[in-house]
Amino acid sequence: MSVSVYVHFPYCLRKCPYCDFNSYGTGREDVPHEAYGDAVLRELAWRLPAVADRTLASIFFGGGTPSLWEPTQIGRVIDAIRSAFPSQRDDVEVTVECNPTSLDRARAAALREAGVGRVSVGVQSLDAERLAWLGRLHDAEGALRALREASLEMPRVSGDLMFGMPGQAPSAFLADLERVLETGVRHVSAYALTIEPGTQFGELHKKGRLPIATDDAYADTFLAIEERLGRAGLQHYEVSNYARPGEEARHNEHYWRGGAYVGVGAGAVGCVDDRASKVSERWRSEPLPSRYLETSGGDAVTTWRETLSPADRVREALMLGLRTRSGVSMTEVQERTGLDLREGRERAIERRTSRGELVIDGDVLRVPHAKWLSLDAIVTDLF
Ligand code: SF4
Repeated sequence: MSVSVYVHFPYCLRKCPYCDFNSYGTGREDVPHEAYGDAVLRELAWRLPAVADRTLASIFFGGGTPSLWEPTQIGRVIDAIRSAFPSQRDDVEVTVECNPTSLDRARAAALREAGVGRVSVGVQSLDAERLAWLGRLHDAEGALRALREASLEMPRVSGDLMFGMPGQAPSAFLADLERVLETGVRHVSAYALTIEPGTQFGELHKKGRLPIATDDAYADTFLAIEERLGRAGLQHYEVSNYARPGEEARHNEHYWRGGAYVGVGAGAVGCVDDRASKVSERWRSEPLPSRYLETSGGDAVTTWRETLSPADRVREALMLGLRTRSGVSMTEVQERTGLDLREGRERAIERRTSRGELVIDGDVLRVPHAKWLSLDAIVTDLF
């Protein structure tokens, strides 16, 4: 049984208007590097003993902007996680999400020294007007420089881009993508912009003051990205992710297969199953950084928890697994949950397979790649 560890770093230089992550605009000099490191170490010491008999699969620093955090603090956290697990995969993947404003060659080298092997860089766009509209602090040259410099020091670099912005033609996105590919990245994440309630964009949208892209524009860009990246040798292995063979984000693949993960840091979510009862417990730590610093290390840091029944876990397995090219292993789901995922879904499975929207390949249920634009409807039908 394997487990991954997610570490949340909640500070950013500025809050982007579309962002609903647990992140807080903070001056560079106001980031409490060491105090936050101490708090994360307290939470690790409290949470990890319960899972220390499992095999460590991967570590992921997300945020927020974890590349703002001093690499020495990231190194302390990696060391604490690694020393807690007697059993570890040979190739434990350690990823840090980075913004171009806090990533250069020296920072990439320091991260590598700290034990990081992969960075995922939030480029989002290379168009000056779109970057301004998204509230981003970098420019195109800064983003490309960050990718190039990171590649000199870091074994694995991913470029993250966003599409589906109003008025963004597929050709405009492809022009950005071309320049990102020229830096030599072997992994690309391409996320569609979503308007989330509670964000600045969400408020504007509610008042009818935010234009959004049409479904047709979204579909055209989705297909154009796939075609271009396919020609570059990057396989579309999950709806929003493309990689050369072997470069897939293993931490994310662990989530998509329903693997257990411990979340630490302000607002981090964790989810760990109980092997005997086959239920999972999911929790969230205190999201507000100032309160997190005070409460970390004891039960008071957990501000929300829920229990997922085996049936809930089957639904999650479908929701996440059908977004991947490899699909859902029915045997694995049965081993984890004790349930046959086909039970109660016979008619929906029959309906969707007869339309070519679902395929059963031996033990695997998957949505053929050509039907990914209809994924939401297919998954909803199976709920
Ligand atoms: S940099 Fe990322 S995490 Fe921070 S506010 Fe912007 S989108 Fe959110």
